[in-house]
Amino acid sequence: MSRQVKEYLKHVYQIVQKRDPDQHEFIETVTDFLQTIGPVLERHPEYIKTNLLGRLVEPERIIQFRVPWVDDAGHYQVNRGFRVQFNSAIGPYKGGLRFHPSVNLSIVKFLGFEQILKNALTGLPIGGGKGGSDFDSKGKSDNEIMHFCQSFMTELSRYIGPASDVPAGDIGVGSREIGYLYGQYKRLRGAERGGLTGKSTSYGGSLVRIEATGFGLAYYTNEILKTLDTTFKGKRVVLSGAGNVAIYTMQKVVELGGKVLACSDSSGYIIDRNGIDYKLVQQIKEVERGRIKEYAARVATAVYYSGSVWEAELGYDIALPCATQNEIDGEKAQLLADNGVKIVAEGANMPSTAKAIATYRKQGIIYGPGKAANAGGVAVSALEMSQNSTQVSWSFEEVDRQLQNIMHNVFEKSVMTAKEYGLDNDLLAGTNIAGFIRVADAMTAQGLV
Ligand code: NAP
Repeated sequence: MSRQVKEYLKHVYQIVQKRDPDQHEFIETVTDFLQTIGPVLERHPEYIKTNLLGRLVEPERIIQFRVPWVDDAGHYQVNRGFRVQFNSAIGPYKGGLRFHPSVNLSIVKFLGFEQILKNALTGLPIGGGKGGSDFDSKGKSDNEIMHFCQSFMTELSRYIGPASDVPAGDIGVGSREIGYLYGQYKRLRGAERGGLTGKSTSYGGSLVRIEATGFGLAYYTNEILKTLDTTFKGKRVVLSGAGNVAIYTMQKVVELGGKVLACSDSSGYIIDRNGIDYKLVQQIKEVERGRIKEYAARVATAVYYSGSVWEAELGYDIALPCATQNEIDGEKAQLLADNGVKIVAEGANMPSTAKAIATYRKQGIIYGPGKAANAGGVAVSALEMSQNSTQVSWSFEEVDRQLQNIMHNVFEKSVMTAKEYGLDNDLLAGTNIAGFIRVADAMTAQGLV
């Protein structure tokens, strides 16, 4: 790498670090990105001249607000709400809302930054944004969740809209929450269907949206398997999480012939050597809103363990992290290698730390980064926006076909870009570079943005 490029990358890193030294997750994702982008700057010195990276790492706008609500006991509660409108160079801000006690500005910014590159990679006209709240829905009644969502949307509704910023779900924000959020949005803004995605099909949602991230992850992993001249048939798969992404990943993996041996929630994990019954997981987590431990109480062949599923000593071929950021560190990655894992593809955002990624590399594990592997959710959200604006509804088969196509293209684009830059087999670099170039070109064309 030339001295000029090295110095520019260092300069951008130092600015991010100096401006927000406490934003660890945000600094982590920017660092990972900067480490892969040097070859582009060598070819495009104009990006250095126009300080494109310096502009990219700074959100266009950050909105932070108070979310007051009253719990069932009559106590006045206050949470913090966020929306980071990160980059609109290629379209309206698009990205989910996360409700989890860990949510803070660093987490929302890291998710928003990844969303810019992910959305660009899909080839669809959507910019990057993300939002959420430190609200903890665990143990809350439906009534409390509804009142919280209404209060959250009362403030957020001023800043979003079908042509400007279109939120969707993420951790802690599923169909129920989207319903309450959309209901309030509609009361305040009128029936603009395109104001939110992830809606139920009964009021303007798209078929396959609920399954999209999980199905997309399985399709993406299948693309990796194809390059190895093999399929999911007979492959042993372990996932983390038991939420939206994990459940529909399991469904598609099973449909494609794989066997899911384990999945988890934030308390522990279950191993079922006969293969996890994803419908039962769905019943426990989505319908009963229970804990994954209950699966082992109902299935004789299943065993429950507390702790992280990535600590399990179990032979398997494919690891699909679908829970949260930084769930696999260097040590856990080594254990994956010891367990015989050949492929890691990320349903979650940034589940692997930098040390984990280095270990995958060292151990010859193929690594599909979340920015590409979990792009199916946002891609079908964009299809939902198209259907809303043209007032049509496509069939399940049609949306699923488009999703498969998009995941194929996302994979191909990453592979081809990595090749073009002489970084064969580096899906992370291919993903970052392909997403970046699309955004950089759009920003360049629009002048000083
Ligand atoms: P979800 O339905 O709320 O499920 C999250 C799952 O992960 C739950 O099983 C949860 O366990 C577990 N989990 C959450 N935080 C955890 C933690 N700190 N440690 C261990 N386990 C934890 O959320 P989701 O929509 O499936 O999202 C999962 C991941 O996929 C996130 O990283 C999200 O950003 C990413 N993603 C989601 C979409 C989408 O369309 N939903 C799209 C792209 C990427 P508990 O039940 O115990 O809380």
